[in-house]
Amino acid sequence: MTIFSKIVAGEIPSYKCAENEQFYAFLDINPLAKGHTLVIPKREVDYIFDLEDDEIAAMQVFAKHVAKAIRQVLPCIKVGQAVLGLEVPHAHIHLVPMQSEKDLNFANPKLSLPAEEMQQVAADILKAYEAL
Ligand code: 5GP
Repeated sequence: MTIFSKIVAGEIPSYKCAENEQFYAFLDINPLAKGHTLVIPKREVDYIFDLEDDEIAAMQVFAKHVAKAIRQVLPCIKVGQAVLGLEVPHAHIHLVPMQSEKDLNFANPKLSLPAEEMQQVAADILKAYEAL
């Protein structure tokens, strides 16, 4: 079981941003920017391009809705999207609110935000997502 499956199962806590039957979104614990969110399939697959065609299409639509909610909560020029998957072997899309292209540089030092702030941001994104 991957660490992300344990998050979906509630065995490891997470700052939930959105959820449906197939997918789950939560704040990255080491964010590049406030609101940096990870979108994952509940089905455990390592490499995103090994997902079934209909699954990756549905995941992208889910990510689109999450990105819309993020942008409502954290005004930014655009929400950037990236796929790396070099650290956690469970497919995921990074969604990062960007004020400039520098915000999507994974070599940047990561932010450390207080738990209360992470909790509030996630709650706000979840509320915006559910109101879409
Ligand atoms: P990647 O696999 O795309 O290279 O990076 C994995 C991402 O997952 C990193 O940005 C890292 O901060 C995040 N991450 C790793 N473990 C956890 C965790 O337990 N909880 C959360 N919320 N994020 C994690």
